[in-house]
Amino acid sequence: MNDGISDMTPFATQALLDEVKTWVEIESPSIDAVAVNRLMDKIEADANAAGASMKRIPGRDGYGDQLLVTSPWGGEEPGVLVVSHVDTVHPVGTLTRELPFRVEGDIAYGPGIYDMKGGAVIAFAALRHLIRVGGPGKLPIRHLFVPDEEVGSPTSRELIEEEARRASYVLVTEPARDGGKIVTSRKGGTATFDLTVTGRSEHSLHPKNGRSAVRELARQILELESMSDYDTGLTVNVGVIGGGTSTSMVPGHAYAKISMSAPDSEITEKTIARVLALKSNDPDVTIEITAERGRRPGYEKSPEIEALFQHARGLAAEIGFVLEGVNGPIGGDANFTAQFAPTLDGMGPDGKGAHGLQEQISISSLVPRATLLLRLFETLG
Ligand SMILES: [Zn+2]
Repeated sequence: MNDGISDMTPFATQALLDEVKTWVEIESPSIDAVAVNRLMDKIEADANAAGASMKRIPGRDGYGDQLLVTSPWGGEEPGVLVVSHVDTVHPVGTLTRELPFRVEGDIAYGPGIYDMKGGAVIAFAALRHLIRVGGPGKLPIRHLFVPDEEVGSPTSRELIEEEARRASYVLVTEPARDGGKIVTSRKGGTATFDLTVTGRSEHSLHPKNGRSAVRELARQILELESMSDYDTGLTVNVGVIGGGTSTSMVPGHAYAKISMSAPDSEITEKTIARVLALKSNDPDVTIEITAERGRRPGYEKSPEIEALFQHARGLAAEIGFVLEGVNGPIGGDANFTAQFAPTLDGMGPDGKGAHGLQEQISISSLVPRATLLLRLFETLG
């Protein structure tokens, strides 16, 4: 499956896929620190076996540990920082129920396989390969594994930024997008909203006296989601809802949690204002909305990022594929690192279906992408 590049890569498709499978089968939702740490244990053991140095920082606030794996060369010099999150959005059990690991032709499915276990595995494989053959790269490589990216990296942001500050380059192993493109900027804005609807509870036999908060919420959901505009890249997603207490009651209370992602700050502000201005359709029902702007700063394509991209593009051409760059939505650790060092994101394998139950990677992209990461490790500096 390594058509054309088999003579210039040390990686084999099946070995990488087997490793991806092992990672996927250690389920690791952000909110389950014990589960996340099981995967950290495996990474630590593998890094140990490879002869890497390591620092493991105990988790806090209910999240898993953070693990920094460092190449044996380069000491404390500025280096290449690789950022991978090991957490996924999928609860434990997804693997045995809705999304078992399986292979169909060139596609491999599994929870977190695309976002981002595939990318973490190939970067880690590239680092261990370089250590095994006595590399070294020109710069030290520091591979940081974090436990909480899918919830906004609340406990790992500090370390991500600290490491980015002493990095010459940063590579983030989020999945490639739009058919294998890497991400050279993530700009725009995000926000989350809490919507509370208050009506009037009443026995269901006397519905006239009640005011259903659930019915009002249903109308608000349609209104909110109609704000999405796929052409400009604005998404408004009602992700969590609840309401009522019993089937025999008119529900007097309902709520929703909403997220928004917009391609630029103007659309961000407009949309926040629009959401906050929503009115109840029923004068006897009140709605209350609070907004919280995303804490991730925008990541713009600087001349340094363009130069790094062109370097990666040249390496990809040598390997035998065309590398393209694209703007991605805000929402990854690259938004933290790009303030401090030129950052490329989307270094993971090609695929689709992040966070969904069809989450998948293209198996044939594993070797070219692993080879690209290896060549970057070898040449940067
Ligand atoms: Zn991700």
